[in-house]
Amino acid sequence: MEVLDSVKTRVFKFGNKKADGNSSMKNLLGGKGANLAEMSAIGIPVPPGFTITTEVCSEYNLLGKEATVKALKDDVESAIEYVENLMQSKFGDEKNPLLISVRSGARVSMPGMMDTVLNLGLNDKSVLGLASKTKNDRFAWDSYRRFIQMYGSVVLGMKPHSKDDIDPFEEIIEHLKDKRGISLDTEFTVQDLKDLVYNFKDAVKKRTGHDFPTNPWDQLWGAVIAVFNSWNSNRAMYYRKMHGYPADWGTAVNVQAMVFGNMGDHSGTGVCFTRDAATGEKQFNGEYLINAQGEDVVAGVRTPQQITKIGSKRWAKLAQIEEDDRAKNYPSLEELMPKIYKELDDIQKKLELHYRNMQDMEFTIQEGKLWILQTRNGKRTGAAMVKIAIDLYKEKRITDKEALLLIEPNKLDELLHPVFDPKAIKKAHSIAQGLPASPGAATGQLVFFADEANKFKNTILARIETSPEDLEGMHIAKGILTARGGMTSHAAVVARGMGKCCVSGAGALKIDYKNRTMTVDGKEYHEGDWISLNGTTGHIIEGKVATIEPELSGEFAELMSLSDVYATMKVRTNADTPKDAKIARNFGAQGIGLTRTEHMFFEVDRIKAMREMILADTVKGRKKALEELLPMQRSDFEGIFEAMHDLPVTIRLLDPPLHEFVPHQVETQRILAEEMHISLQAVKSKVAELEEFNPMLGHRGCRLGNTYPEITEMQTRAIIEAALNLKAKGITAKPEIMVPLVGTYNEFVEQERIIRETADKIFKERQDKIDFLVGTMIEIPRAALMADVIAKNAEFFSFGTNDLTQMTFGYSRDDANKFLPIYLAKGILKQDPFEVLDQEGVGQLVAMGTQRGRQTRPNLKVGICGEHGGEPSSVEYCYSVGMNYVSCSPFRVPIARLASAQAVIKSAT
Ligand code: PEP
Ligand code: MG
Repeated sequence: MEVLDSVKTRVFKFGNKKADGNSSMKNLLGGKGANLAEMSAIGIPVPPGFTITTEVCSEYNLLGKEATVKALKDDVESAIEYVENLMQSKFGDEKNPLLISVRSGARVSMPGMMDTVLNLGLNDKSVLGLASKTKNDRFAWDSYRRFIQMYGSVVLGMKPHSKDDIDPFEEIIEHLKDKRGISLDTEFTVQDLKDLVYNFKDAVKKRTGHDFPTNPWDQLWGAVIAVFNSWNSNRAMYYRKMHGYPADWGTAVNVQAMVFGNMGDHSGTGVCFTRDAATGEKQFNGEYLINAQGEDVVAGVRTPQQITKIGSKRWAKLAQIEEDDRAKNYPSLEELMPKIYKELDDIQKKLELHYRNMQDMEFTIQEGKLWILQTRNGKRTGAAMVKIAIDLYKEKRITDKEALLLIEPNKLDELLHPVFDPKAIKKAHSIAQGLPASPGAATGQLVFFADEANKFKNTILARIETSPEDLEGMHIAKGILTARGGMTSHAAVVARGMGKCCVSGAGALKIDYKNRTMTVDGKEYHEGDWISLNGTTGHIIEGKVATIEPELSGEFAELMSLSDVYATMKVRTNADTPKDAKIARNFGAQGIGLTRTEHMFFEVDRIKAMREMILADTVKGRKKALEELLPMQRSDFEGIFEAMHDLPVTIRLLDPPLHEFVPHQVETQRILAEEMHISLQAVKSKVAELEEFNPMLGHRGCRLGNTYPEITEMQTRAIIEAALNLKAKGITAKPEIMVPLVGTYNEFVEQERIIRETADKIFKERQDKIDFLVGTMIEIPRAALMADVIAKNAEFFSFGTNDLTQMTFGYSRDDANKFLPIYLAKGILKQDPFEVLDQEGVGQLVAMGTQRGRQTRPNLKVGICGEHGGEPSSVEYCYSVGMNYVSCSPFRVPIARLASAQAVIKSAT
């Protein structure tokens, strides 16, 4: 096999208001490539270039370098010729060289995770051509030394591997600065830059044993392969795992003519957003630097200036910079280059309208000409995401359905999390202020290295600046604090994407990695000291500050009511207490889908009666203990029914193995023996008797109720009496009694008989009645297969996909963590099936169970109460099989409501 037959076109060109591809081709061209093509086609000034597809990345992973280069050669050569014609220069030419950039670009943006090489095409001869063409020696040699540095790190493997390693290029730079007694890169003379080039090449030769490649084609192929390799770098793999992106997507490679922001004072480069990515405010904003290349803005080495005048004034206020100083030293692009600003402003409006979404753009100004290098849907905080979607809808730029689809359900989670308690924050002492890079509140103990972010339970990661290597630590830390970098620095962009609180660019901090200290105004803070961050205001606060639940904004409520217009599937909650039931109801839960009654028995005052029940040798003894439990259960149910009045409440009969309730330590066994007036030996032997080899498949679920029917009797009595008691108070309870872990029809029928007989008995005693349903969980594969038979009696089904996943895969829920992480890392499994419903396998049982159940009972009510009920892609699946409701934990109710609406909208398009 020389190439993959399935791969048809490997290279897609763009430039000069034309393109082979378009924005709908993200899977093939990557997000960046698809948008470059689209922008070019709608007349936005993008430097010409071409995209090598993601399919070629997969081809490379299978066939290796030689076959890939061979397959690509003709197409790439003709694409380079196309760019040469448009740029009127020649790749590798000694007089008029075409320089190119080579960048990664997966179908979703993975900021900083993969590699980029700029200024490619330079060598000892073409650098002279570039110098004479631009009449700028300094620029040419600076570009050349940057190229060797980047190419050396990315392609030739000279990147430092750990925090103790020294970057060989930085070492040479520092050495020269010391020798020359200077501190800034801009102070290098042309001769210095030439020396750097010489020394860099020497370092390459020493480290790799080969000369730095001078042939531009060799340079190009090296860079293309390095970008493909970076798809499988540790940080990219970690990022994929974190976001659940599959390894087989691959990255595209974008090759584009270089444009330069570092050609003097009429050149510059920047990043901008059509709306505020932190708050969602409708305000064009961004940062730029004059006479700089792209990485200078995000690296946080120089302080970037603001694009708009409004933004500049706001920034100056936060940075405590006087207006005169601001206008003179940090003017906005709007003030400094009004014509370019106007053009950029027009383009940002056009792009937002075109993409019907907030855009994040990169631009370069080369000697007074504006080029757009990239546009993409901007990453944003949860709060900004909701505001932007609702605003765009209200501005009539998008439809209500589009607004709903703009929301990532899981990101709503951020809005539901704590903020600082206003009372506590009043007393708090702010030690400094940085930029409010990603909102929210965080409190934790200081650490200074990303790989130590789990040193304490809650940590704040403080860095001079962050880099993509810090990703994992940033994920673990509660908040991120940097001394350098603007709103678009790596830390800020990544933190916003994660929904993690971040304060960036706090210039007042002096961070000393060696001594692990942070100094502010002469006061030293050490590793382990408590610090709090307010990512909404940028305040850095000394000590620990209490947090409270957030208030949901007006836009959030609007979003939820918009969801309810489309959602046909109801959302219930899994709640075991009146408190949880109330929280969930406030979030819009339309009932309870699962109350796990065993959780009520674990409470201190109940466990004793429960243990007596389990240890009883006779039915009489067991009934006596159950009588003690009855009033407690009844009052629990009254509380839950009251909180959920008028809405259905599914109560599941006792499920877990009995041995979970008995003490396993001798000391506690002794106490129990004394309390029960029996011997320690008796307790010990009962505990031993209850021990199971495989409790997950043991004496649990309806097997308990069928062997100890008195338990089912007591629980039914507690449920029915609670409902009757509420009825007497004028409150309507709608109980649905659910039998767990049913595998056979008879198991269900036997439990149902007990439930109905007990209820009838109570109705007679009380001379009153209520309506209730009796149904079952479908969580054993056999139950799904026999659903038509079970539905003869069961009035509703609720899929327990936790157990159904366990038993379908044969993975113990209690032991799977020993091998699941490895399976995920190796790609044997794409996702954890306990988190995301396995639609292919377990899904078949869900679909079949629903369909067979309804064959017998067409109106059978069907829901899901496993963890998957709050996971958006699983919710969508539940809709597709025709469920009536999903049930999830209280804080996921809004997420499931939205996912339920999205399911309807997506299925109709
Ligand atoms: C389930 O198995 O999916 C379920 C909801 O029950 P539990 O998690 O309590 O076993
Ligand atoms: Mg279960």
